[in-house]
Amino acid sequence: MDVVIIGGSIGGLTLGLLLHEAGIASRIYESTPDIKPLGVGINILPHAAKELCELGLEDELARFGLLTREAVFYNRYGQLIYSEPLGRYAGNAYPQFSIHRGDLQRVLLEAYRRRAGADRVLAGWRCTGFDQDGANATAYFRDTLSGAELEPQRGEILIGCDGLHSVIRKQLHPDEGAPLYSGVNMWRGVAPWTAFLSGASMVRAGWHQGGKMVIYPIRENVDARGRQLVNWVAEIATPKHKARDWNRPGELADFIDAFAGWHFAWLDVPALIRSTEKILEFPMIDQEPLPWWSRQRVTLLGDAAHPMYPRGSNGAGQAIVDARTLTDALAKHRDPVEALKAYELERLEATSNIVRMNRRNPPDAILREVFVRTGDKPFDNLDEVITLDELQAISDGYKRVTAGSRFV
Ligand SMILES: Cc1cc2nc3c(=O)[nH]c(=O)nc-3n(C[C@H](O)[C@H](O)[C@H](O)COP(=O)(O)OP(=O)(O)OC[C@H]3O[C@@H](n4cnc5c(N)ncnc54)[C@H](O)[C@@H]3O)c2cc1C
Repeated sequence: MDVVIIGGSIGGLTLGLLLHEAGIASRIYESTPDIKPLGVGINILPHAAKELCELGLEDELARFGLLTREAVFYNRYGQLIYSEPLGRYAGNAYPQFSIHRGDLQRVLLEAYRRRAGADRVLAGWRCTGFDQDGANATAYFRDTLSGAELEPQRGEILIGCDGLHSVIRKQLHPDEGAPLYSGVNMWRGVAPWTAFLSGASMVRAGWHQGGKMVIYPIRENVDARGRQLVNWVAEIATPKHKARDWNRPGELADFIDAFAGWHFAWLDVPALIRSTEKILEFPMIDQEPLPWWSRQRVTLLGDAAHPMYPRGSNGAGQAIVDARTLTDALAKHRDPVEALKAYELERLEATSNIVRMNRRNPPDAILREVFVRTGDKPFDNLDEVITLDELQAISDGYKRVTAGSRFV
């Protein structure tokens, strides 16, 4: 079998690697002419890290990124609400990685080139659409830089791993409505900073009304002072937002006031934000889950299939689990059309539930509960606001939905 993969990011590259391991040939077509380390921080939770570790990539990922040690939740006054160990530190067989998205993509890309062959990744190929018949799917392309038409590419199946702006999704669902804005806008960045808390803590603090932050380190030892590269995301409830674009620059003045007083003993948040060279802005957006992904020899995977709010560190992870499920289905079913149906059956409902869960009750619902119950005031005794059982139930409830049978 020969699989045409559109999109050479986390989903497409992981799929290529897993297919190679299963003895199935693939070619990856990526629109970016020169694949550079774009983006900021990303987390891979244990249920998805399993696949990357079993592909033999654990040491490399740990070399570029960090093994996340704990999740910690604070209100905006710096009062601790909840903490729990993560990944290996929680007794999982697999770690949680916090890593720069570009580093993760580079590790996957290099591994795919080494294992499947460098000529199997075609960069600068922008897919414009597809068609299919009883035996093959054909993808059409233009050169990203010159716009010139390129040779159509055929395979037995075609997988759209082309992310948020997927042309494959658009062709399958031409009448789909516009993306849904959550009412929360995000600003993101990275800056060198001295290690704080455990040195590998994932901090969530505050709440969207007034300002919430997510902060975690993603690279060790980035300068002569031995500092870490620290990723931060500021999230603020506001009707103001611009169209989604991963690389849109953001303005400090648009959000810094919300965090002006966040001088915690363990981290000076406004100072961290102010020391960031390049700030990015991105609206928190998702799309209504689709009723179907596959038509005969064509299907969707990762963000192309199920864009979700980035509120539970599951975007990349679910793309990785999709890749595993699709590979298993292709290895099991002789008929590729049956394989795509089996893949969709196993993943569509599961990921639709995560899209919905990320709207309602992702882990940061812990912060919402305390914000609402305290009326955004400091508390004297947390137990009178929320019990430990309630806090654990929010965290475990999310893990059960997102990790499914992989939940430990
Ligand atoms: C530039 C960029 C920066 C990002 N930064 C972050 C970040 O900082 N933090 C975070 O959590 N998530 C980030 N993401 C999203 C994150 O990578 C995904 O949510 C997640 O990993 C799922 O991956 P995916 O492979 O499904 O989709 P994506 O990572 O979005 O990958 C889609 C790939 O398809 C390619 N593509 C798109 N259209 C075409 C086409 N017509 N023809 C050929 N190729 C095409 C894109 O260039 C991209 O490489 C970023 C995505 C991109 C594209």
